[in-house]
Amino acid sequence: MTEYRKYWDEETETMPREKIREFQLSKMKEMIELTYTKSPYYKKLFDEAGVGPSDLKHLDDLKKFPSIDKKDLRSRQQAAPDFGDLICAPEEDFVYLSASSGSTGVPTASPFTAQDFEDFQDFQARLFWSSGMRPNDRYCHALNFTLFVGGPDVIGAMKVGALTIWGGAIPSDRLLSILKTWRATITWTTPSYAWFLGETAKENGIDPAKEFAIKKIFVAGEPGGSIPETKKNIEALWGADVYDYYGLSDIFGACAGMCEAKDGLHWAEDHIYIEVVDPDTGEEVPEGERGELILTSIKKVARPLIRFRTGDIVSYTTEPCSCGRTHLRLHGIHGRLDDMMIIKGVNVFPSDIETIVRDNENLTGEYVCVITEEKHMAVLTVEVEKTDGFQGDTDALASEIQTECQKIVGIRPKIKLLEAKSLTRATHKAKRVRDERKKA
Ligand SMILES: [Zn+2]
Repeated sequence: MTEYRKYWDEETETMPREKIREFQLSKMKEMIELTYTKSPYYKKLFDEAGVGPSDLKHLDDLKKFPSIDKKDLRSRQQAAPDFGDLICAPEEDFVYLSASSGSTGVPTASPFTAQDFEDFQDFQARLFWSSGMRPNDRYCHALNFTLFVGGPDVIGAMKVGALTIWGGAIPSDRLLSILKTWRATITWTTPSYAWFLGETAKENGIDPAKEFAIKKIFVAGEPGGSIPETKKNIEALWGADVYDYYGLSDIFGACAGMCEAKDGLHWAEDHIYIEVVDPDTGEEVPEGERGELILTSIKKVARPLIRFRTGDIVSYTTEPCSCGRTHLRLHGIHGRLDDMMIIKGVNVFPSDIETIVRDNENLTGEYVCVITEEKHMAVLTVEVEKTDGFQGDTDALASEIQTECQKIVGIRPKIKLLEAKSLTRATHKAKRVRDERKKA
């Protein structure tokens, strides 16, 4: 068996933390200078906030700079067509455009220069390598190639030297056939889809754990890959290891991913600086606590993002990882700010409920959180499915779930027990919250 090297880029991946911070500061200074001189919008924002390039002396000084969000990207593209006035490189340098449509349906462009694209794919190769992908793997890329930034990630696998199979977003029977025919060893989907795909195979009389060669599944787009109960179920179904990845359409296909220690997602600190803040006050939260992820791209020049509010709720650690890599690790994505439910003053994420539902052997694992209103108070009902073979007392089962919720989440939701397969299965990202309250 070929002995492969341990790291993709040892020097960068194992850099002492003080060196990472020095590197970030020098890149960040260049980036603030670049955005201030090249982007009319950033210049106006900085001027209005009374800050400029000379105000950035330490990494912490970044806090003085204003933040932007998805709405700004969209509105600036409309105000200054075709690509918005946050871009900092001439169009002739652009080689690739990804776009996300979001809820309004207006595609917002995220351009890349040749160097940006090279950085994106080199980082992707680094992540794949850290998750254990090697040249003797066969990688089936089952993500959408149309404008979606996750599409070109397949090039990262080619850089690793794996045999890449460009599956794309295709019907599940065809995907299963591809995985089986060419004995793919690795694939990438959302956690919901990995689950659905495995169940579909089983329904067709194929045991994915026995009849496929899949040994690793990369997942992204939903919190599931870092929820132990969800991960455990998908791993058992496929007889494979699940690695969680996190990406953002406005930066890279993946900005963080799990190494083989599978203990958090290593962030690309040499490309992107992160802050985690209280979404209400904007104050930084201590390491380990949940808050909104704010990103600053420190290398990407086509359309740099300075203090971009992602709306994703995360927590992180800078503790050393057993793999020897020094870049900080996210403890997974706890949820989207948009999906956060406030029930009796408690912040509840669907991922909290998922932990409970997927740990109960009498439930199928599918669930939906429904919010209604009673006496001006938000009421949460969790719809779950009993397994096919469940013969026990349904009231006792409902009460057992409520007690778990009380213990773990701090609230006692109503439970609606449904028959198996009553809820819709997701082929992409699952919709976990249904808000039935009347909007004012
Ligand atoms: Zn690690």
